[in-house]
Amino acid sequence: MNKELEALNDIRKVLEEAYKFPLNLTPQYKFIYEALKRNKPLKLKTKRVKVSIDDYRIDDYCPTCDEELYTMSNYCPHCGQKLDWEE
Ligand SMILES: [Zn+2]
Repeated sequence: MNKELEALNDIRKVLEEAYKFPLNLTPQYKFIYEALKRNKPLKLKTKRVKVSIDDYRIDDYCPTCDEELYTMSNYCPHCGQKLDWEE
């Protein structure tokens, strides 16, 4: 868990204690939680694609939305997930 998610979790605990309400069920909490999760770099998914009878290539995919990545960008152009391109 990154610092931002830990901070959100701390706030959630305080508010849930004060209001006796499960904050993580609200759309606002889910929206912020998903945004912070997308900002934590994730390693790419790779898939082997057969290109001929004895050859294949490795294609890169977003670990969150599973869309194929054609350029080495720090963020997925489809869903905004931060990407870790290190092997
Ligand atoms: Zn994505």
